[in-house]
Formats: sequence, C-alpha cells, structure tokens
Amino acid sequence: MPETKQKTEPSAKTSRAARSGKLEDKLARLGLRSDMDFVLHLPMRYEDETIVVDMHDAGFMSGGAAQVEGVVTDCEVQYRPRRQLVVTIADDTGQVTMRFLNFYGSQAKQLAVGNRVRARGEVRHGFFGAEMVHPAYKVINEGAPLPDVLTPVYPSGEGVSQTALRRAIETALARANLADTLPLALRDALGLMPFADAVRLLHHPPPDVDEMALEDRSHPAWMRMKFDELLAQQLSLKRAQEARRSKGAVPLTVVGALSKDLLATLPFSLTRAQQKVLAEIRNDLVAPHPMQRLLQGDVGSGKTVVAALAAAQAIDSGCQAALMAPTEILAEQHFRKIAAWMEPLGVKVAWLTGSQKKKEKTESLALVEAGVAQLVVGTHALIQEAVAFARLGLVIIDEQHRFGVGQRLALRNKGAEGEEEASRIVPHQLMMSATPIPRTLAMTYYADLEVSVIDELPPGRTPIVTRVIDQNRREEVIARVHAAALEGRQVYWVCPLIEESEALQLQTATDTHATLAAALPDLRVGLVHGRMKPAEKAEVMDAFLRAEIHVLVATTVIEVGVDVPNASLMVIEHAERFGLSQLHQLRGRVGRGSAASVCVLLYQSPLGPVARQRLVTMRETTDGFEIARRDLEIRGPGEFLGARQSGQALLRFADLEHDSVLVEGAREAAQRLLREDLATVEAHLARWLGSREEYLKV
Ligand code: ADP
Ligand code: MG
Repeated sequence: MPETKQKTEPSAKTSRAARSGKLEDKLARLGLRSDMDFVLHLPMRYEDETIVVDMHDAGFMSGGAAQVEGVVTDCEVQYRPRRQLVVTIADDTGQVTMRFLNFYGSQAKQLAVGNRVRARGEVRHGFFGAEMVHPAYKVINEGAPLPDVLTPVYPSGEGVSQTALRRAIETALARANLADTLPLALRDALGLMPFADAVRLLHHPPPDVDEMALEDRSHPAWMRMKFDELLAQQLSLKRAQEARRSKGAVPLTVVGALSKDLLATLPFSLTRAQQKVLAEIRNDLVAPHPMQRLLQGDVGSGKTVVAALAAAQAIDSGCQAALMAPTEILAEQHFRKIAAWMEPLGVKVAWLTGSQKKKEKTESLALVEAGVAQLVVGTHALIQEAVAFARLGLVIIDEQHRFGVGQRLALRNKGAEGEEEASRIVPHQLMMSATPIPRTLAMTYYADLEVSVIDELPPGRTPIVTRVIDQNRREEVIARVHAAALEGRQVYWVCPLIEESEALQLQTATDTHATLAAALPDLRVGLVHGRMKPAEKAEVMDAFLRAEIHVLVATTVIEVGVDVPNASLMVIEHAERFGLSQLHQLRGRVGRGSAASVCVLLYQSPLGPVARQRLVTMRETTDGFEIARRDLEIRGPGEFLGARQSGQALLRFADLEHDSVLVEGAREAAQRLLREDLATVEAHLARWLGSREEYLKV
C-alpha cells in the first residue's frame, strides 16, 4: 500500500495515540520499548524529499527517483489491461501519470481532480509520457513547506508504517537523555563525534550530507554509533569474565606422578608450541577461580595430548576430568587413545555415550558418581541429568564450535556444589577448536576467553599436495587409488554432500562403495556413514586403523578429529559442494604420518565463482589460519561462526570485517574504563544494553 500522510501535521495527541494499544505491541516485537530503543533504531537509508523538480525535467530523468508537485487533472479507474487507478498531475511545465495497481477506494477520493499532490518515485517513460508506478505521495496545501532534511527510512515490521515509526522516534528523540556517556578526553583521543549530534544527524541528515558516507556507514556519525556498540560489547564481555573470576574453582595445584609418567611414556616429545600452551593451561589450573581457555590449533597440531595432560593435572590434584566430543566416532577415538595412555598408569577412564547399552551406561554412571572413574570421555551423553560427578574439576570440550553455548554451560554446571549461586564451585574449562578464528573475531566473540594457540605441526609431517580435477577424469583417479593401495598406502574416498536429503546421501555412499568395490576387486573397500550403528562404525574404523581396509568410503562422519596416520590419499567427490572449513577439516585426515600425502578434489563443471574460489584456496594453501581468513572473506562473520556465540547478538551496526580498527580501539578503551572510570562503564552499558542484556546471560 502506498504511503500516505494526512493533510494536518501530527499533533502531540496523535503521536501518543500512535504509540498506544496494538501499535505498541508491534513496536515491542521489533525490540522497541524504551526511548533509547527508539533513538538507537537507525535508518537503513534515506529519501530526498527536500527538492521538487519540474515535471518537464522529470520527464528526462528516466530511471532515477524524483519528487514532483502538481494538481490532479484527471483521476480514473481503468480496467485494461487490468484494474488500476490512473491519476494525472500537472504543473506549469508538464505532466506525470501516477499508476496504482493495488489501491483503496479512498485513494480515488483523496486524489480527486483539483487536489494538490506531492509525489515521489521512479520516473519511467510510459506510453503516454512520464509516469510513476506506485509512487509515495501526499496530498498537501499549496505552499506547504518542504522538509529541510533527508527523510529516514527505518527497518520495520508487519503492520508498522514508516509514518508511525518516524513519529515514535521523534517523540523519543525529544524526550530521551542524549547526554554523552563517554568522557570528552576519550572522544577527543579517538576523534569521535558527540553522541547527541551523531544520532540527530543519522535520523535527520541535512541535504548537503555526504550520502555515500551515510550509505556505506563510514560517516563520523556512524563511526560513533559503531564504536559505542563495540565498546558496550567489550565491556559486557569483560564483565562476564570478571563475574566468572569471582566464582570459586578447585585449584588443581599438583603436577605429580601421573603428569610426569604420561609425558615420559608418550611415543613422542611435545613440540615447542605444545609446551607453551601446556604451560599456559597449567598456570590457569592452579588458580582458585575457573579457567576459561580456548585452545586453538590447526588440524593435526596435536591438541588431544595437551588435553590429556591437562586432565592428568586434575587427576593428580584429586579431581575428576570430563572430555566431551561432538560425534561418537571422535569420542570413541579419544577414549581409546587416552585410555591406552592412561590406564597403564593406573587411571580409570569411563566411557559414556547415547547409544550405549543400558547396563553398560549404568555401570559408567556409577563409576563416575562414586569418583572411581577419574576421567570420563563421551558425547552429549555427558550432559544428561543422570550424570553426577563426585568431584569434577576440569571440563574439556573438543571441537567446541560444534556445541551450542547451552551445552557447554550444562557440562560446566555439573561441577556445581551448593544450591546458592554464590557458593558454587565451577570446574575449570578447556575448549578446543581447529577452526582458527581471526584475531578481530576472537576479540569480539571471545573477549571473555583466554586463547592459546598451537602454531606449529609436529615434526616429520610432509605437506599435503592438493589436486583439483574434473569429475570426468574419475577413471584416472581410481587407477591412482589402486596404485597407491598396492604400495601400502591407505585411502579415504569421501562421498558427496547432499544437504537436501540424508536418505539420498546414504544412497550415494552405498552406490559409491559398490562401484569402487567392483572397480577395485583386488582391494578391500570399506564403508562408514552416519546411519550405521556406533558398534558397526567402530568396527570399520578399527579395521581401517589396523590397515585391513585399503580404501574407506566415507561420508562426512570422518570430518572431525579422526586420526589414522597411515592414510595418505584422500579423494573428495563433488568437492564444489563443501564449505572451505569442511574441506580443510576433511583434508586434515591425511598428512598425519611421514608419507607424502595427496588430496584430490573432484569437481563437477561448470564451477560457480564462489566454488572456484574455494577450490583454488584449497590448492594454494594448507594453512588453517589463511583458509579461515579467506573463508571469512567469502562468507562474512555471521555464517562463518555458525552456531550463535555469546556477544554476537549485541552487534547491530558494527561490521567486524571493515571495522577492525574500531574493535581494537573499543577493546583498549574498555580495559581503561574498567580500571579507571566505573561510572562511565555503568552509564554506557545502561544506554546500550538496556533491554538487550538477556543475551549476555549465556
Ligand atoms: P588435532 O590437533 O587435530 O586434534 P591430534 O591431537 O589428533 O590433532 O594429533 C594428530 C596426530 O599427531 C596424532 O596422531 C598425535 O598422536 C600426533 N602427535 C601429537 N603431538 C605430537 C608430537 N609432539 N610429535 C609427534 N606426533 C604428535
Ligand atoms: Mg582433535
């Protein structure tokens, strides 16, 4: 429906009426409740209604938007080619036809011959000269003043007109306290414009404003908004961190016999990078407040052993540790590996998963509850209600980005002792991820985490060579697989991702397995997919690990964490369907031993530009950080991070890719303000969080 305005200007009365009743509910649904909510509801774009052009000139402005003013000379409902309202308006220089394909009867009355109209819209050349289809218009009195500022267009929702929004925002702007929350010295140092000036300018930009700068949000007024928003986010995340620090944790002070024996019996020595992160973790664990540390390291960098050594410290200190992984395959692999390291040293390791038989699970639960099991490894099953720990001191979460915030919290809460929030003992938390987060993102999304990075791979790895090959050369690739297997190398063959249908994906995996088995009759070809029973999956993975299977046809169930060092060739079919980080994770399954590894990316042509970019990136680099950087470029931060992370919900205006300088500034300012100026912190958070604070509870 076209936007219309009444002849009379809105009075105080109508604006109050506009905010009462149902409209108020609709606005609330847009998150607009307090005056400050309205003040911070900033325009998406602007319309220039400050100028009226002659209709004669409008006729030459084909394609652009223009505003004209004139008197209605003709108004009729036509029925051909379909029902429409056709209104002609004229000024001294020419005429313009307005065409409405959807209209109300009342509009025909409004636009009666003789009425004066101001109309704004895209001018096109119709059969009868210049015309506007569905222009915005208002009926006015002669001499009605033109606005002297650009007209804002706000993000809106169903049933909330721009007119209603504008009125509500006007009222709020007049009533709200727009005093600056930031001290003058800080504003000056960062060259920030005053808050009140910035919001007024954004709601009512003068006609000579740099419209490009408004549009791409580089205008100083936008910079001020973005800075404020980032500062609020940094402050609240730092606050959350302090709140956590004020909680108690059991200090895990003993690096004793188990830690030492484990190090001594490992078949390798730690890399320099592993030693560095281990020292950081050990240092945190002795503190009487909970560690909250993210351990980042590229695929294959050796995070598992660091986790095991952290667990050893907990056990040496008389506590239990829990390790949670996102898939059964991965959890099972961790369980076996860590049990093989630790059980000979006298540690009882329990295993917990959703698919376990009832009897087995009951046994595990009893061991955990009695404190007999010092370490428990498992999947989401670890966070179920039935699981109670005797003395949980450390929680380790592998591939943490695969879990939601709630799931991570649930495991942490297993350490709770005492009902009262204040008396709670919280376990230390170590999160691990092979999805490296670029620095700016880490600072904004994980401002409340400490971050450790393993920045080198264990020695003796030979770099993976990646080949990008057209699907029509599949036969050649199969021949290569054959030759490699005869040399004693093991092969992963990854089936195409079919996002629309799990059944179809399963079918494809089974088909691929059948064709490969037929094409390679002298080799043993195995199959593993997500729909298999965990025991079956484990059996196949085991056989592959023992080198009894030459070629393992797999769906993406092998994507995370799987570790079979002898596998040195990987073929990924329809690689163009996978995301970059997924390809990187998959490829990380090879290149784990000393044999030179190859990853073949088979693609179906023609390739779209984004898919091509991804495959080229894969061919050019194996560096996870570089891949993450390019992935971020291709996808943008929201999608890149996947599951909603704390802090994300707070950013409406800032763009992490383009505003990294502001992020740095906001971070420094937050640290300084928290040290020196708590009054400013309070005022700033009150303004910016307001009703949004609930997002931070996670
Ligand atoms: P990720 O960081 O991807 O979880 P893993 O912990 O699975 O990596 O380690 C990859 C492989 O490297 C494993 O086989 C592991 O035993 C081995 N490994 C880990 N640390 C070292 C090291 N310092 N020297 C040699 N091999 C190592
Ligand atoms: Mg791992």
